[in-house]
Amino acid sequence: MLWAALTTAPAEKAARTMSIVLDLDYHAHADRPRPGRQSLVGLMKPELRDTLMGIGLDEREAKMRASQLWNWIYHNGVTDFDRMTNIQKGFRQKLADTFLLDRPEIVTEQVSIDGTRKWLFRFRDPKNPLLPPVDVETVYIPEEDRGTLCVSSQVGCSLTCSFCHTGTQKLVRNLTAGEILGQVLMARERLGDFPGGVRPTDGLVPAPRGSGGSEGDSRAITNIVMMGMGEPLYNYENVRQALLIASDEAGISLSKRRITLSTSGVVPFIEPTGSEIGVMLAISLHAVRDDLRDLLVPINKKYPLKELIEACRNYPGLSNARRITFEYVMLRDINDSDADARELVRLLAGIPAKINLIPFNPWPGTNYECSTSSRIEQFADIVNRAGYASPVRTPRGRDIFAACGQLKSASERLSKKERDALTA
Ligand code: SAH
Ligand code: SF4
Repeated sequence: MLWAALTTAPAEKAARTMSIVLDLDYHAHADRPRPGRQSLVGLMKPELRDTLMGIGLDEREAKMRASQLWNWIYHNGVTDFDRMTNIQKGFRQKLADTFLLDRPEIVTEQVSIDGTRKWLFRFRDPKNPLLPPVDVETVYIPEEDRGTLCVSSQVGCSLTCSFCHTGTQKLVRNLTAGEILGQVLMARERLGDFPGGVRPTDGLVPAPRGSGGSEGDSRAITNIVMMGMGEPLYNYENVRQALLIASDEAGISLSKRRITLSTSGVVPFIEPTGSEIGVMLAISLHAVRDDLRDLLVPINKKYPLKELIEACRNYPGLSNARRITFEYVMLRDINDSDADARELVRLLAGIPAKINLIPFNPWPGTNYECSTSSRIEQFADIVNRAGYASPVRTPRGRDIFAACGQLKSASERLSKKERDALTA
């Protein structure tokens, strides 16, 4: 049974912050993973068809059933096979006995005064229910003309960018394609974004309306950014699969122009991201000299600026209508001088680019500070004069600790010995 307690934060924040805390026992889908049942969420269509053939369907029927299931899972958001009315009752039962359409559990859901929502989602491994579950954060940012879902690709991160909170959490594991999509499906459910879905009734913020779907319909989630926890290009296969499914027209149906993958600069996977996935690219640049970037974004030691910029120049599909976004976190007295701004403009010359200046979002224990607003203005001015419009990103959801680089979950990494003991 779902219960929601509205809690207000203490003292001066009380007027500004409300968070909804959901009971841990709540499962949107009481259908808890049991070993032996395979999840169908995250399978590509041919895999779904093959899986159905594996339970005795011939190829023609498997193909037809795969399309029906696809529509129920991604378009209608159904998690209960019994609601699939165009499938005979007997076969629905067989599906339910063999498969799962699992979603994450919601550990917490918080709503910021600015309408930003942050979820802590919990995933269990259906194949190894003895393994401890993992928790990841997903953030929804409503704006006038769009609603953006910020999705995680890993639990923790193997990289250690010195200004990023996620970077202080060791990599626990990659998320599967189903778990990446699970964040999208659960957020759509909570935002009433499926046909006939119920819009949030907490009255805190009206859900925004954009026109993101290929059908020109109005939806709460119009854009996806792979900017949550983890480095998406170190989990390339699963991210590719999830994004291809998210952009499939018969399902979630988000245009690839409305999906952005952000990377710290894993150069070998930049070309495949363009040619195989075809989504928009964002690069976490943050420094324009190798010596400084080595310190801020240590993967730079492996793939230095020259190689990174070259890969960007060759990004498949790049044009003035499909620009690369370069993210640049504003760190006081570290990377925010006029000379840095001029070098930034010089470095990107000739690349169809947008520049996104991100005010540094602090987190407990960091030694960095955000640049002063006058410094950011002056930096932005140089960037503006070079022809890049409105480059400063407004931080969202700071009161619920949901802004860029503030995500971190308490999931711990198990040693190999501990893992082996649990899966033996
Ligand atoms: N790993 C990927 C995507 C996740 S981070 C990447 O690094 O691109 C999403 C964005 O937030 C990145 O540009 C990241 O550098 C930035 N970021 C990280 N910590 C931040 C912080 N404390 N304040 C502002 N931006 C931050
Ligand atoms: Fe990982 Fe991105 Fe954070 Fe770097 S900025 S530690 S790559 S999540």
